[in-house]
Amino acid sequence: MNNPLLERYVRMVEVSRDIASILDLDVLLFRVVQAAADVTEATAASILLYDETNNRLYFQASTNLDSHVMRGLVVPVEGSLAGEIVTTREPLIVQDTDHDPRHFEGVSQSTNFETNSLLGVPLIHYDKVIGVLEAINKKDGTFIAEDTELLSALGAQAAVAIENARLFQQSDLISEMVHELRTPLASINTAAHLLMRPEISEDQRVKMTETIQQETQRLSEMATSFLDLARLESGRSQFQVKPFELRPILLDSINIMQSRIDQKDLTLEHSIPDQFPVLHGDSDKIKQVVLNLLSNAIKYNRPNGVISLDCHIEDEYVTFCVKDTGRGILPEHMTGLFQKFYRVPGSEQIAEGTGLGLSICKKIIEAHGGKIEVESNPGVGTTFSVLLPYSNQE
Ligand code: ADP
Repeated sequence: MNNPLLERYVRMVEVSRDIASILDLDVLLFRVVQAAADVTEATAASILLYDETNNRLYFQASTNLDSHVMRGLVVPVEGSLAGEIVTTREPLIVQDTDHDPRHFEGVSQSTNFETNSLLGVPLIHYDKVIGVLEAINKKDGTFIAEDTELLSALGAQAAVAIENARLFQQSDLISEMVHELRTPLASINTAAHLLMRPEISEDQRVKMTETIQQETQRLSEMATSFLDLARLESGRSQFQVKPFELRPILLDSINIMQSRIDQKDLTLEHSIPDQFPVLHGDSDKIKQVVLNLLSNAIKYNRPNGVISLDCHIEDEYVTFCVKDTGRGILPEHMTGLFQKFYRVPGSEQIAEGTGLGLSICKKIIEAHGGKIEVESNPGVGTTFSVLLPYSNQE
């Protein structure tokens, strides 16, 4: 083929066919930004999703930014080019962003990425603006009308695919949630019926009341975790990215958990260096992960067991590990651990839980560009390690 424009159209059609079948939102968005840069012959491309509840746009996928940098980037609708696209619902070409007063400086300041020229189109689904697709820095020459046409066509396909993926995720999550609600609701129902029987003993009455209390508590924890996970999965969870130090977060988490550790006669040992590189991310969300891992190490430990919290720097990662002396996890149960609602068979007898904690941890750590790993020795104990990147950050 020797018509480059036709060639770009053909690639566009191929991509559109491809993205229609992707149901994982993160995978889909990345595919769309890659395609956007490709068909417009730009150096980079990004998707910003629009949150109408607070009238802001936030970066959700980009060909050139690390996820932990990108997640914290929020762009106001007032005073930004992307915002103007949301308001006018029209494509916009800016050949020289430096000299355009509408250019929002916040992004280049936090990413060290210079935007020179920009082409943006609104992502519209059923008359609602759901975001903006931007191609940044035309490789040769300037953005032209054909680029706008191609990006608009891609944007139209992307908007449908994004809403499909969101709906799919929601319905998937909701059906799992409804399924999980049945067990605690059935226990509450049975206990409540038994309580009404005149012939039950005082002991039985106390036991039934306890069951109702425990199960309602579990339902309430499930609701909180469920909302957390739904926000993380749909990309609607906002990350407050700032420089932070890990040491105070780890020490704070130990403090919070100390009474539960004492109650179970466990011992906690820790080795946390005084000096650490500064990390960038949402410190509250990282703390949520530490608390969850410590909580599991308490719940699934043996009486008089030990918990070790170690922290070290290795390659480009700061790593912290939470190790326990519980019964461990068999190899065949390892694969399900980070899936939502998964509990190792027999866990119900050991401790209460929802099976959502680890999937939330994984989402949070991956959004920071990190990794979460597990190693277990059945009968001896389990270690969860969290690796957070610190290189590429000032
Ligand atoms: P929850 O503890 O609420 O069930 P999680 O998602 O935190 O949910 O953990 C999922 C499952 O993984 C738990 O139900 C348990 O079976 C297993 N698990 C997690 N942490 C440990 C641990 N430290 N030792 C043994 N099993 C664990």
